Amino acid sequence: MAELEGLEFGKSDFVLLDEVTMEQFMENLKLRFEKGRIYTYIGEVVVSVNPYRQMDIYGKDNIEAYRGRELYENPPHLYAVSDAAYKAMKRRAKDTCIVISGESGAGKTEASKYIMQYIAAITNPSQRAEVESVKNVLLKSNCVLEAFGNAKTNRNDNSSRFGKYMDINFNFNGDPTGGHINNYLLEKSRVVHQQGGERNFHSFYQVNCSLHFCSAHLFYFAFLFDLFAFQTSNNDRSSHKAVLSALEVIGFSKEEITSVYQILATILLLGNMQFESDGESVNIVGQEVVNHISELTATDPESVNKSLLYRTVATGGGEVIEKGHTEQDACFGRDAFAKALYERLFGWIVSRINSIIEVKDYDPVLHGKNTVIGVLDIYGFEIFDNNSFEQFCINYCNEKLQQLFIELILRQEQDEYQREGITWQHIEYFNNQIIVDLVEQAHKGIISILDEACLTVGKVTDTVCLDSMDTKLAQHPHYTSRKLSPTDKSMDFQKHFRIRHYAGDVTYSVEGFLDKNKDLLFQDFKRLMYNSANPVLKEMWPDGHLSITEVTKRPLTAATLFKNSIVALVDKLACKEPYYVRCIKPNEMKSPVLFDDARCQHQVAYLGLLENVRVRRAGFAYRQLYARFLQRYKMTCEYTWPNHLMASDREAVEAIVIQHGFQDDVAYGQTKLFVRTPRSLFTLEQERNHLI
Ligand code: ADP
Ligand code: MG
Repeated sequence: MAELEGLEFGKSDFVLLDEVTMEQFMENLKLRFEKGRIYTYIGEVVVSVNPYRQMDIYGKDNIEAYRGRELYENPPHLYAVSDAAYKAMKRRAKDTCIVISGESGAGKTEASKYIMQYIAAITNPSQRAEVESVKNVLLKSNCVLEAFGNAKTNRNDNSSRFGKYMDINFNFNGDPTGGHINNYLLEKSRVVHQQGGERNFHSFYQVNCSLHFCSAHLFYFAFLFDLFAFQTSNNDRSSHKAVLSALEVIGFSKEEITSVYQILATILLLGNMQFESDGESVNIVGQEVVNHISELTATDPESVNKSLLYRTVATGGGEVIEKGHTEQDACFGRDAFAKALYERLFGWIVSRINSIIEVKDYDPVLHGKNTVIGVLDIYGFEIFDNNSFEQFCINYCNEKLQQLFIELILRQEQDEYQREGITWQHIEYFNNQIIVDLVEQAHKGIISILDEACLTVGKVTDTVCLDSMDTKLAQHPHYTSRKLSPTDKSMDFQKHFRIRHYAGDVTYSVEGFLDKNKDLLFQDFKRLMYNSANPVLKEMWPDGHLSITEVTKRPLTAATLFKNSIVALVDKLACKEPYYVRCIKPNEMKSPVLFDDARCQHQVAYLGLLENVRVRRAGFAYRQLYARFLQRYKMTCEYTWPNHLMASDREAVEAIVIQHGFQDDVAYGQTKLFVRTPRSLFTLEQERNHLI
């Protein structure tokens, strides 16, 4: 069993600091990082610093050391929180969730994988085949989702470009019986454009390894930005093998796998497609690219041609006409099609995995309560040089999660002490609800203003939309723009607005906001895909059967869809018992030895870790109703066993506490006993085990 750490490694829980100051916090965090101790607690919250090197702490021995143990019995580790979440789920039949947060490159995805590996390792001791197969699919799904949803960015070579929430279902034995994955806002603009030094999604480089399906593989692929980047590396090649085998293990059929790669190739070919105009009509340069696409998508070449050059529109009089594209419209349509193809492919892969692992035929009478552990790995706060619609959505999502954190950890805790009449020093913390409202409030929030602009008929430009925001939000303390602060030369009159997020100021460029929010895809493309002779492809485009007159004129916008999905996510998390992993990125160089004080301190500050420690220190690790407490521990005290004769349960509990000598470690509330450190309880538990 792992030994508890000595003091030379610093304090393993920030709660134990002599004084809760930023200085002491940072000193401890840095010391531990330098000593290779990447995990530190704040009570049950794990603070993790990305080591940027392989750590020898994830092996079988480590798993065994943490299995079934209490948090404070071992050095801090992800495994300990995973075990805590698992125990709560199994013993108390609670749904739990593990929320992993932190900025890009802080180590969230790696953490989520270790958590899943741990849960897989400690379950199904009897090796039942059906449970093993569920576990296998859950683990293998990571590999597939990473290939299609991750890309190299300037901040992280394997950056997740989508948010992921995975529920794992357990039966009464505590063995996984299935799961469900929710994905959030894939950054599909990456399909057609990447910033300098970045790559498209990994899958596109891997497609080069699957030459058999298409003779068009030697093209220069414009969507891959960098010609050299397309030269498939050994890495892409070996990942490709792993992805293929993962798809097979999960249960994708041969036809499905082939279709997946055909779609990828189609997207790459669209990237090569160019248009030319003779002044009268627009045409596609080179017919062979159309033929390739029709071959790959099992559609006829004439329809491919038409959907790229014409658009079906319903006139006011109910007449349906075909309108030729301008060259610009054709390019817009092509890119929208490429992005949508990828987005639907990704969504389809996720739902296909879900259909394989969903819990089937679960009978609560026969099997007991079906409980869940959720793991959330979602993009962290982003501030780039150029922040667009995607960053706006991502940062809004982080505001929501921070709000949930405040709600769950800070506020609930304080409220309960107040309710129970426990002496309590109020802790000041910043409540970011005001920023959440700035974005999502009905009628007045930024999303509403955007949506309104998208629905307005006629020429509404991004700049007009910015004006409208400036007018409506001029008074908001967290919103500003060049018009509202004319002296601020870092912003442009036509382009920029700034939100004061809880994590810092972010300047957004409105350029492209309206288009991205409208997320328009001509119905002609949907119908083209729906008419494909390839059943897999057809399945991804069920809305393609609608004719132009049946299509809704007011589809939900991208921002609203995203908002709805995040609100649903927060609801899902809020009804579970939460465990938190807060990831910190030590430096920008991906260096295992560099601890950038300023960068780290900034993260500690905006993650609210100091407030977290304060609340925790003022707080109590454990609380229980008097009657419940008695029921569990009455056998450990002569005055309460088998029944107490005291005036109240509370007095009986006092007797137990005094007998075990931890009266200085508790407070008595109206209905509950509060215990400051878990260690006191540990003694009780041991004695109880001894006696029963
Ligand atoms: P995020 O998901 O927060 O953007 P990742 O989990 O992808 O970040 O981590 C970025 C990189 O940092 C990984 O590819 C890996 O190289 C390194 N890394 C993160 N966590 C660990 C860890 N626990 N041990 C070793 N390397 C890690
Ligand atoms: Mg990630």
